[in-house]
Amino acid sequence: MNQFQYVQPAKSKAAIDTVTKDQTAMFIAGGTNLLDLMKRGIVTPEKLVDINKLPLKKIQKENGAVRIGALALNGETAEDKLVLEKHPLLSQALNAGASAQLRNMATVGGNMLQRTRCPYFYDTALPCNKREPGTGCGALEGYNRMHAIFGHSEKCIAVHPSDMSVALAALDATVLVSGPKGDRKIPFADFHRLPGDTPHIETNLQKGELILAVDLPENPYTKNIHYLKIRDRASYAFALISVAAALDLDGSNIRSARLAMGGVAHKPWRLTEAENFLAGKPATETTFRQAADLAMRGAKAFEHNKFKLKLGPNAIVQALKNAAGVA
Ligand code: SF4
Repeated sequence: MNQFQYVQPAKSKAAIDTVTKDQTAMFIAGGTNLLDLMKRGIVTPEKLVDINKLPLKKIQKENGAVRIGALALNGETAEDKLVLEKHPLLSQALNAGASAQLRNMATVGGNMLQRTRCPYFYDTALPCNKREPGTGCGALEGYNRMHAIFGHSEKCIAVHPSDMSVALAALDATVLVSGPKGDRKIPFADFHRLPGDTPHIETNLQKGELILAVDLPENPYTKNIHYLKIRDRASYAFALISVAAALDLDGSNIRSARLAMGGVAHKPWRLTEAENFLAGKPATETTFRQAADLAMRGAKAFEHNKFKLKLGPNAIVQALKNAAGVA
């Protein structure tokens, strides 16, 4: 690991100023991904700005929304009364991620910023455009079982690993950030980027911008929800495919739906076309299958992840059935 300075400011402004002025400085909170990256020499910050002293831990109601502080721990957030009552889909997604130990260290802000688990990214002997732009993508012609089927580019086919972010995408979250130019709100759909020609740039955060909180607007998705995660083993594994499904039902008819997938793209993959199709339809397996077929249009697999083309629609149907309580 490289040598680095460590500072722990008590005010957001001081933290933001330090990271803005020092090109080599990075924020650290739970450190559950960043320390791994540093130990392997994948990132080499010369200054770590520990933000754990900042007052960003609260989960509270704010103008009808639920505001979750960036430093709220994943485990605490999953068990929070307000989150369980208003956004149980988020709670399910959080509990599907990592292990209990990691959930008790990892923060909500850090979860959004975690890096891909593409094995080529983590092996500094192998080519990776994300780690070292211009070196090529080892996964493109290599072992790509875990990789994307939507939104990839010839520069990178990695997927975003967060479960929490899939639920936040489905629930129309907004990210509150503060930076050298002041505060701003970023719709969750615009927070993460597709790889394009610059896979090393993963979010639309500017240098020095600090995540303060996430807002979840009031919605009717408090009952008929399901987060389905398909993975190689039951615990502490990243998703091959996941589906966040939320339905607002009027008897056996669907008033509206929210759907997003994980494990399929460089960012949480919202399925708006399928959502629009579901609105006004009966909550039946036939409807869900049609929605799943719509959702998978445009999917393109690689040599080792072709199974996702079949697993994807089946997972969507199962998540919707579970959400609707359809046998
Ligand atoms: Fe690197 Fe992306 Fe290719 Fe993986 S898929 S090797 S992260 S460029």
